[in-house]
Amino acid sequence: MPPSDAAPRHVRGAGGYLTADLDAVAANYRTLADRLGPASECGAVVKADAYGLGLEPVSRALAAAGCRSFFVALTEEGVALRSCLPDAAIYVFNGVDAETAAETAAHGLVPVLNHPGQIEAWTAQARARGAPLPAMVQVETGMTRLGLSAAEVEALARDPDGVAGLSLDAVMSHLACADEPAHPQNAEQLRRFEEAIKVLRPLGIARASLANSSGVFLDAAYHFDLARPGAALYGINPRPGGPNPMAQVITLQGKILQTRTIDTPSAVGYGATHRARRGDRIATIGVGYADGFLRSLSNSACATIGGIRVPVVGRVSMDLITIDVTAVPAEATRPGALVDLIGPEHPVDDLAREAGTIGYEILTALGRRFERRYLGGGAAS
Ligand SMILES: *Cc1c(COP(=O)(O)O)cnc(C)c1O
Repeated sequence: MPPSDAAPRHVRGAGGYLTADLDAVAANYRTLADRLGPASECGAVVKADAYGLGLEPVSRALAAAGCRSFFVALTEEGVALRSCLPDAAIYVFNGVDAETAAETAAHGLVPVLNHPGQIEAWTAQARARGAPLPAMVQVETGMTRLGLSAAEVEALARDPDGVAGLSLDAVMSHLACADEPAHPQNAEQLRRFEEAIKVLRPLGIARASLANSSGVFLDAAYHFDLARPGAALYGINPRPGGPNPMAQVITLQGKILQTRTIDTPSAVGYGATHRARRGDRIATIGVGYADGFLRSLSNSACATIGGIRVPVVGRVSMDLITIDVTAVPAEATRPGALVDLIGPEHPVDDLAREAGTIGYEILTALGRRFERRYLGGGAAS
């Protein structure tokens, strides 16, 4: 991980402030763990720099809240996490290959084995070390992404020597439609997962894992032994369309660089896609698409200043956006004043809707130029 992932971070001349509330992350972890009940362990997915919020501070807060099992996508992420959590179980979704096997073992990471080539790479590493290595096995149940096919599952069950030298911690799969509880694919994937578990029984795999954030809100049949929520920990609604059971975690504020009152009607921004009328007041904010404020938010996002809703007008530029602040008293729109882009009145899911995307993409796109602050979790903000 580059040092830019360390937190908090001061950026000279920053045009925006990103605040993550680590107590809210911990509260969300407890909400999910409570919903699962004592029969299932609640893990945490912290891939992609904990969905853009900062791997280290977020993971420490989760560990303090009682989380013991963490999931990342890459070996690199697992190694970075190991240096701050020496005792946690760290699973690597994308698995292992000949290049990463030695490092994976040396840092005590547990790869998810997704195909026979990964099983070979990991058993070869176990032979080289002369000691058993832990692994999780993924089975493909309906996403057509990663995991052993039904035929590969059968082949493995017939030839358990294929995993000689490995201690298989769990079998997992991933739901494609968990955020749509009535979608028939949920039951179909559950059926195929249960079938794979049955076929793999001779291998003596102790645990199973299926549910992501939305899966935690399906019925208990989907929970199994270990859940893998990510998005819900960070405030994204795991039940889209219904009220959000999660606490909001981030606030994003943009800084006003300049405000002008229009005396002659004029076009705003690239492509002249908005026309300001005489008397309008337009504020220019130091946040743009290079900061993850997606260009698809042009003429569609809204923001708030002191609780007053104001529209983003014109196109989003690389470093700047323009907002019509005519409705806001002039004192609140001077250079240096702050505009709430994501916050309690305008949560991440709302901004995502305005961009035509999902909260996941908004969070993971948030850039490196914000001044980052953390609240709670014992962090010095
Ligand atoms: C990212 C990921 C998760 C977490 O999903 P959320 O929807 O963010 O809870 C769980 N499992 C796998 C395999 C993933 O890739």
